Amino acid sequence: MTCPVCGSREVGKVGAKNYYCHDCCVEFALHPKGMMVYEVNADGTLIALNGVG
Ligand SMILES: [Zn+2]
Repeated sequence: MTCPVCGSREVGKVGAKNYYCHDCCVEFALHPKGMMVYEVNADGTLIALNGVG
């Protein structure tokens, strides 16, 4: 698994289908319709950025 935003391999699994990139600090998830990318807010909530692919 590599980060869909920056291509880094510094990616950790944080849920069943969720991953976190330690390089650009985004969380992403695999969905049937494509990859969803989230920015992690300071309070821990997720902000959907854009679907990739
Ligand atoms: Zn990244």
